[in-house]
Amino acid sequence: MDKYIAEPFKIKVVEPIKITTLEEREKLIKEANYNLFNLNSEDCYIDLLTDSGTGAMSQLQWAHIMQADESYAGSKSYNRLIDKAQEIFGYDYIQPVHQGRAAEKVLFPVLLKKGKVAISNTFFDTTRAHVELTDARAIDCIHPSTKKIQENTKFKGNMNTEELENMIKHYQASNVGCVVMTITNNSAGGQPVSISNIQETSNICKKYNIPFVLDAARYAENAYFIKRDEPKYKDFSIPEIVKEMFSYADMFIMSAKKDGIVNIGGLLGVRTAENNAELIEQIKSQTISYEGFISYGGLSGRDLEALSVGIESSLDINYLTYRVGQLEYVAKLLDEAGIAYQSPVGGHGIFIDAKAMFPHIPYHEFPAQVLAIELYKEAGIRTCDIGSYMLGNDPDTGEQIESEFEFTRLAIPRMVYTKAHLDVVVQALININKRANKIERGYRITWEPKVLRHFQAKLEPINE
Ligand SMILES: *Cc1c(COP(=O)(O)O)cnc(C)c1O
Repeated sequence: MDKYIAEPFKIKVVEPIKITTLEEREKLIKEANYNLFNLNSEDCYIDLLTDSGTGAMSQLQWAHIMQADESYAGSKSYNRLIDKAQEIFGYDYIQPVHQGRAAEKVLFPVLLKKGKVAISNTFFDTTRAHVELTDARAIDCIHPSTKKIQENTKFKGNMNTEELENMIKHYQASNVGCVVMTITNNSAGGQPVSISNIQETSNICKKYNIPFVLDAARYAENAYFIKRDEPKYKDFSIPEIVKEMFSYADMFIMSAKKDGIVNIGGLLGVRTAENNAELIEQIKSQTISYEGFISYGGLSGRDLEALSVGIESSLDINYLTYRVGQLEYVAKLLDEAGIAYQSPVGGHGIFIDAKAMFPHIPYHEFPAQVLAIELYKEAGIRTCDIGSYMLGNDPDTGEQIESEFEFTRLAIPRMVYTKAHLDVVVQALININKRANKIERGYRITWEPKVLRHFQAKLEPINE
């Protein structure tokens, strides 16, 4: 393990946060229909809902924002971003978009339609939704090690390549519109994917002539784990590893709100312009329809500037060591307290095993949502369910799906909270764990939208 690194930055601007009482929080969560997305952020003491767009930007990013060129077409800020992204990822064509799901919305209708399938190590929720919005079907090939939550294995985010090949044969290669590798594997606990697994997946895609797409929101964190845990790459720099990872895919989609360290932004890339002229034309047309002109892609010049700096600054090894170190600090305290989580901790969050904490609460009463609500009541900590509640209903039968996992995700925003905040979080988990058997029932949904229900659904506690 690398040595611990304290914050490799000092704090220049502060944002005060409000502390509420238990009575206030009980009232607030009820008014929010027990959906944490309905809470106001000012009512959350420590907001671990997501690491997406919540990072603290650097003085260099803010300085660049002042230099932004807000021209509609061909701005300096656009050119700077394209140059930087081409340099870092090694791709010929780079398309900025306003966030990750915009890249999905632009790309997937080009690759997918009714009758097609898309296969992934694990689809992220919006990525799955955008596959299904094209009337294609999304299939996960989760690596067996991922399911053994408490078993400390490296690269738990990997694709199950044997299963991938079986699925390609089952559906026939011509019906597989794309294979998507999510790095790091968000839904499986921010777990990394090794280069050898990326390479193996790439070879399978080449063999069957299937486009290989990286869903690369956390490319820098994934590269850090490769350097740490994949012996062949021990002496590679983080930028070298990033180049190598991307070299095996044909395209990438990216929510830049994660390792891009911006509040809004996304990217889409095509590795070679050669032989892909038609694909790039389609991407441009889709972008113009949905995101605005190709040289801004739904972003202001200021956003393009902040992104051109952020995609590079997250490659700093001291920053990455500090960031993963924050999660390892929490993990050590959880081990001491006997609280189970997806182990080892991944890059952007601690995924608490709510099934282990509430073994008596069935999946259809949403144990991970139970823990999320308890964390809010206990200490004003906002987290989210990554389990059956988030997964939703089967698009064919309309029945609640039982998720492989019932995780409550503590996503850690980049460079925002200190070790003292993390101590508050761990103490809250310990307190809840002590009274877990007294929390007998979970929640039922009283209203839900058809797609991505967890953002908007209303819930109530089951009392009888
Ligand atoms: C966040 C995320 C997305 C969606 O990106 P948004 O910027 O939230 O639209 C897609 N895939 C993965 C793996 C993500 O983490």
